Amino acid sequence: MSILSSFIKFENLHELKRLCHWGPIIALTVIAVCSTMAVLDSIIWFWPLDSTGGSINFIMLINWTVLILYNYFNAMFVGPGYIPLGWKPENPQDMCYLQFCRVCQGYKAPRSHHCRKCNRCVMKMDHHCPWINNCCGHLNHAYFTSFLLLAPLGCIHATVIFVMTMYTQLYDRISFGWSSVRIDMSAVKRDHRPIIPFSVSAFAATLFAFGLALGTTIAVGMLFVIQMKVILRNKTSIEAWIEEKAKDRIQYYQTGEEFIFPYDLGSKWENFKQVFTWSGTPEGDGVEWPVHEKCHQHTLTIEQLKQKADKRVRSVQYRVIEDYNGVCCPLSKGVKTFFTTPCTEEPRIKLTKGEMIFATRSIKWWMYGDKVLGEEQTKAGVRIRGWFPRRCVEKCLYDTANDAAMNEEKKEK
Ligand SMILES: [Zn+2]
Ligand SMILES: [Zn+2]
Repeated sequence: MSILSSFIKFENLHELKRLCHWGPIIALTVIAVCSTMAVLDSIIWFWPLDSTGGSINFIMLINWTVLILYNYFNAMFVGPGYIPLGWKPENPQDMCYLQFCRVCQGYKAPRSHHCRKCNRCVMKMDHHCPWINNCCGHLNHAYFTSFLLLAPLGCIHATVIFVMTMYTQLYDRISFGWSSVRIDMSAVKRDHRPIIPFSVSAFAATLFAFGLALGTTIAVGMLFVIQMKVILRNKTSIEAWIEEKAKDRIQYYQTGEEFIFPYDLGSKWENFKQVFTWSGTPEGDGVEWPVHEKCHQHTLTIEQLKQKADKRVRSVQYRVIEDYNGVCCPLSKGVKTFFTTPCTEEPRIKLTKGEMIFATRSIKWWMYGDKVLGEEQTKAGVRIRGWFPRRCVEKCLYDTANDAAMNEEKKEK
C-alpha cells in the first residue's frame, strides 16, 4: 500500500510540472484576475445578501469559476491518453497496416499520432495545446471542449458585471454643468453606501479585467467552434489533413478509388455521444473505433501508409503568391488569419513571392510546411519549416508545366 501511495504521489508530482509553463501560468492568471474582479465588483454593484437577484448573480459567478477550473485541470491532468510504450496490435497480421513509432518502440494504433512535445503516441490526437501544456486527444476531449464553452460564458457574465459596476459607479459621481460633464471620483453623490469604496484604481482594475474578459470571450469562443466541428464530424484536425491528401493522391493517380472517412458515424448526434458521456469518460478504449459500414479498422492507417510511400503527395507543393513577414498575428492577412493563428510554439516562416513550399499540415487559414531550398542548402541539411497564412500560397496542380518539366528531368537522369 505504501509503495502504491508513493507511486501515486510521484505520478502527481510529475504531472504538477505541467503547471510550470507559460501557457497554464497565463491561463490561470487570466482566470484569477477575471474571477476576483468580478467578485469584488459584484459586491459593489449587486450586494449578494440583500436580494434574490444579488444572490443568484453571486452563486452563478462562483459556479463559473469552479466549473471552468474543474474542466481546465481535468483537461490538463487526465490528459489525452497515451498508447502504451511498445504497443502491438492483438492480431500480429494487423502490424502491416500500422506505422511504427521509433521513439515509443511500438506500433501507432489507429487515430494515434506521436507528439513531439509530450514525447508519446497520443490517442486520437487533435493537437498539442500550450494553454493546458498537454495534448488534446481521446480522454480529455470532452473536458477540453467544455472548458472552451464555459470560459467564454463565464467571461460574458463577468463582462456584464464590469460594465454595470463602472456604469453605476460613474453615473453616481457625474455632475452635469452648463457646458461640461464632470466625474468626481472622490465621493458617491447618491446614497448607495458601497461596502468597498470605488476608487480610481478600482476603476482602472475593472477596466483592465473587462478587456481581458472580452478578449477571452472572442478568442476562446472561436476555439470552441473549431472543436465542436471536430467532435460533430468525428474528424480531428490531423485527420482532416490526411483526408485532403487522400483526395489529392486519388486525383493524381486517377485510381478511381472513393475515399470514405471511416470515423464519421453519419449523424452529428452519434458523433457527439462518442465524446460526451454521462460518466465523463468517452466511448471506446482509444485503440479500436466504431467505423462507417463501408470501412474497417485500418481504412485510415492504410491510407496513411500509402501517403507515406508516396512522398510526392505527402507534401503537397504550393507556390507563394503573397509576401509574409513571419509575425504570429499578421494584421494585413485578414481578420480570420489574424484571430486563428495556430496556438503553438512552432515557428512561423517568412515567405517571398515566387518561393515554393512543401506543405505537410494545415488548418483552415494557416498551413505548415518546408521551404523548397536550393541544392547547396539541401545538401548542407538546412531546413526552413513552420507556419504561414494559407492565403499567401496557391496549390501547384500536378499537371502544371513546371511539374511536367521536373518529371522529364528525373527520367533523363
Ligand atoms: Zn510515439
Ligand atoms: Zn502533446
